[in-house]
Amino acid sequence: MIKNAYFNEEHELLRDQIRRFVSEKVAPYGETWETEGMVPRNILQEMGSLGLFGIRYPEQYGGSDLDTLATVILAEELGRSTFGGFAVTVLVHTDMASPHLVNAGTEAQLSRYLPNIIKGNLITAVAVTESGAGSDVAGLKTHAIKQANHWVLNGSKMFITNGVYSDLYFVAARTNPDTKGSHGITMFIVEKDTPGFSIGSVLDKMGWHSSDTAELVFENCQIPEENILGEVNQGFYAIMKNFQNERIVLGAQAMGEAAKAIELTLEYVKEREAFGQKLWEKQTIRQRLARRLAQVEAGCQLVYHTAWLDAQGEDCIKEVSMVKAYCGELVNRVMYDCQQFHGGFGYIKGTTIERMFRDARIQSVGGGATEVMLEEVAKRI
Ligand SMILES: Cc1cc2nc3c(=O)[nH]c(=O)nc-3n(C[C@H](O)[C@H](O)[C@H](O)COP(=O)(O)OP(=O)(O)OC[C@H]3O[C@@H](n4cnc5c(N)ncnc54)[C@H](O)[C@@H]3O)c2cc1C
Repeated sequence: MIKNAYFNEEHELLRDQIRRFVSEKVAPYGETWETEGMVPRNILQEMGSLGLFGIRYPEQYGGSDLDTLATVILAEELGRSTFGGFAVTVLVHTDMASPHLVNAGTEAQLSRYLPNIIKGNLITAVAVTESGAGSDVAGLKTHAIKQANHWVLNGSKMFITNGVYSDLYFVAARTNPDTKGSHGITMFIVEKDTPGFSIGSVLDKMGWHSSDTAELVFENCQIPEENILGEVNQGFYAIMKNFQNERIVLGAQAMGEAAKAIELTLEYVKEREAFGQKLWEKQTIRQRLARRLAQVEAGCQLVYHTAWLDAQGEDCIKEVSMVKAYCGELVNRVMYDCQQFHGGFGYIKGTTIERMFRDARIQSVGGGATEVMLEEVAKRI
């Protein structure tokens, strides 16, 4: 990668630390986790003890108080691990679920949960999507009714990452039956052992095999009043705010994956021979990889610039939406070409590129489908 103006020495040290961790603690075991359908808790705790789960969080709770660019580094490097399922297990915890608590939690909620979230003792999930409402968050139907000093939650959630093995769930529910759309939605903190909460089904997926995904069910699930997260009926706006970080991180993960896939393919085509030459000698192959690398570099710079804007506190919804749309599509195009140049071997299970190809497919859908992101861009131009 081209060195650039966005990262300082602290960022580069963080990058080295994560790259070392991935090479020593992830690469040798990732295949096993793919088979087991989960990332072991001791690995997550080890990441916690190294400070990787509190990169952006306040020092008073055990975090490092770094900026958006630091999380971009985490996401890129986990993307480069080649195990998308591992990467998303971590990134949902650090950058998609726990920010709900950090951005809206009361002092009491932060003290109760955040130190253990940062240590990796409590793993988190965010449950917004339902089988009838994904892109259209305002269409969600799970609801909570207030009774005395608690809320009674009923409904279900679909496609929830870390759904099976999390300890703490941030759940969106409709709390004002008289309103429709974006009004009247509230976020709740649901602890795993809350009566009435259960895992409906464990979902088998095309890719991200080491990430556990579940349907969640709430049947008269009683949530204490103190587990309301943020303001009652203002949850939709909290979800939209947190989506911004989620989308920067997903873009960074995608670019880490794409850059790594190109590197692996360069190694392959420089060794593999056909028609008496290395594949690299074919101009069409060289040029396609060079073009993809240029696009990935452009994608990275868009991610970095957007993260920088975010770190300055600038409104960057347009740029964030561009990141999600551009990087989510690009990683798929890169994987297609990389698999193509691996020939038949790229289609065989157990090869890295076959897994990366499958893992990438969700990047243009999850966390904001390309079309939805382009609408967000279009609204602002
Ligand atoms: C593996 C996985 C993990 C996930 N993890 C989580 C999680 O942890 N928490 C969570 O809450 N959710 C999670 N999701 C849900 C994910 O964010 C949604 O799947 C995604 O937002 C799309 O919603 P949907 O599947 O309902 O598709 P739909 O909303 O039904 O859309 C289907 C397709 O229609 C198109 N489309 C939709 N809207 C428009 C539009 N306005 N204009 C043009 N085209 C449009 C897009 O191509 C889209 O892909 C996960 C999903 C998967 C598959």
